[in-house]
Amino acid sequence: MLDNEGRLDVVFGHLHEGVLVEDETRHVKFANKAFTDIFIPGLDPALLVGGDCDATAVDTAPMFKDGQKWLDATRAVVASKRPMSNDVWETVDGRWLQRDYRPRVNDDVVFEHIWLYRDVTLEHASRTVAGLDASNGERTGFRNWSDAIERLGKRAKSIGALEKGAMACVKVRQLDVLNAEFGYEVSDSILIALLEELRGEFGQVNVERLKGTVFGVLTTDANAHELMSRIHQLLDPTRAIGDQFVYLNTVIGVATTENIQDFTDGQEMFECARQAVREAGHRHADVVLEAEMRIQSRLQNELVTRLDEALGAGEFQLYYQPIVRLVDGEVLGHEALLRWHHPERGLLTAGDFIIAAEEVGVISRIDRWVIHEACREVSQVLQDRDCFVAINLSPMSSDGGDELLEVLRNSMAAFNVGPTQISIEITETAIARDQLEFVRLITQIRAMGVNVSIDDFGVGASTLATLKDIPFDRLKLDRSFTAAIDEPRVQEIIRVAQVIGEILGGQVIAEGVETQAQSDLLQECGVHIGQGWHLGMPAPL
Ligand code: C2E
Ligand code: MG
Ligand code: MG
Repeated sequence: MLDNEGRLDVVFGHLHEGVLVEDETRHVKFANKAFTDIFIPGLDPALLVGGDCDATAVDTAPMFKDGQKWLDATRAVVASKRPMSNDVWETVDGRWLQRDYRPRVNDDVVFEHIWLYRDVTLEHASRTVAGLDASNGERTGFRNWSDAIERLGKRAKSIGALEKGAMACVKVRQLDVLNAEFGYEVSDSILIALLEELRGEFGQVNVERLKGTVFGVLTTDANAHELMSRIHQLLDPTRAIGDQFVYLNTVIGVATTENIQDFTDGQEMFECARQAVREAGHRHADVVLEAEMRIQSRLQNELVTRLDEALGAGEFQLYYQPIVRLVDGEVLGHEALLRWHHPERGLLTAGDFIIAAEEVGVISRIDRWVIHEACREVSQVLQDRDCFVAINLSPMSSDGGDELLEVLRNSMAAFNVGPTQISIEITETAIARDQLEFVRLITQIRAMGVNVSIDDFGVGASTLATLKDIPFDRLKLDRSFTAAIDEPRVQEIIRVAQVIGEILGGQVIAEGVETQAQSDLLQECGVHIGQGWHLGMPAPL
């Protein structure tokens, strides 16, 4: 491909990176516009072709602050025949240019030299302010952030903060605005001042400057709210810069032993504080990490790192809960509900981890597995019986809707499952989120002869009025209605939902039937199908 000049142009012409390709004898084969923009703005890159690169490098060297060094480094890396990455040089006009080198080697001969150049002035500047610049690090209290985290973690252990204590991550936001307005030295000096103030209050060794504009603060006092108000009181948000004032926006995330009693080490305590400050950033408010948030974040991590392993190891399993005719208990179908036999946490129900799976974007992989598994199991049990299995599709799945349809079609064909043996459940909330897309998906599913249920109806964003635009076969009334069926007003609502459901689509199913009394009242309201613990618990095949 690299020999085809025309295609090269297409591939590299639009890159932001400057690309220079030299031939075996180091003459220019190709350069793109971004390259000339960096070195000779306005020059047509085609004019460079054929030029002698070493000679041009000699001419170019004065544009760098350390021109001779840059030239020596260029020649040295070419002689080495080895790739090089992230080599950064400052120009005399104050820019920072980063370059990568890739030799293409055949039989120990370099037949093509490829250079990529990027202007990293902005990133470099923010790196300096974040303290990654080694020369600057000592001054800003920042040497190496992983060392800083380790120090803080060890300290947490040695002062007993893991048993009783708290760690806060304090994040100064919008520092880039200050950078832009006053320059990096000013924002840097603000960060140094903040570090000193925090150290003055909490002790030199209990405060570290961490990554970017985040500070870690450690105390043996587990009261998170006290810690947060101490920090806010200390850090005066109004700062004078010359004769101007700026306002510092700080958010705090805290991990405390009051909420989490089993920190295994300081590193974990820090991870929790970091998660809290991340969340604080989203919420624009301080956050104290709750045990529940930690469990969710651990689950999210696991779903990302070992979903395939868990699926392969048989940790996931479908349980089936009967859907029943209330009057005589006849089983009309089953809903497949996902369970995770977690190696440490035991049996998790879908409610424990589906949201986490949606948040980290693995839900469509799970849905695909569920479709396949449900069809496989259905084919073993149902054979010709007139009974269906309902499969839940996640709200997020409409993006991959076509792909899911394909999986559904293939699985049904592979296991010889007929369309009336399968039903798909989609929650009302999901549909409301992207109604057009879901209506398209639902229409396609129904065209296959597969029924569609609207799940958890009545608690989502949509109303009875929008129902008329959504094609469906079953309406599953959210279990909150069943739970409150003692109230006459709720009975009225159920009656209306039943009538409308019937007019628009078909069957209405009440979820969460836990007692015979509820079953009786439902039937009085005209609802004849139910699902719930009273009628049958979810169980494996
Ligand atoms: P859902 O589809 O509304 O499923 C009913 C949920 O209510 C199930 O929780 C079930 O165990 C629970 N339930 C059943 N009967 C009763 C009862 O009488 N009382 C009470 N209080 N609860 C009852 P589960 O299994 O934790 O699932 C929660 C949600 O997770 C499901 O709500 C569904 O939206 C989703 N889900 C379940 N399995 C899957 C799956 O395979 N894929 C996807 N994408 N979502 C799933
Ligand atoms: Mg469901
Ligand atoms: Mg439901």
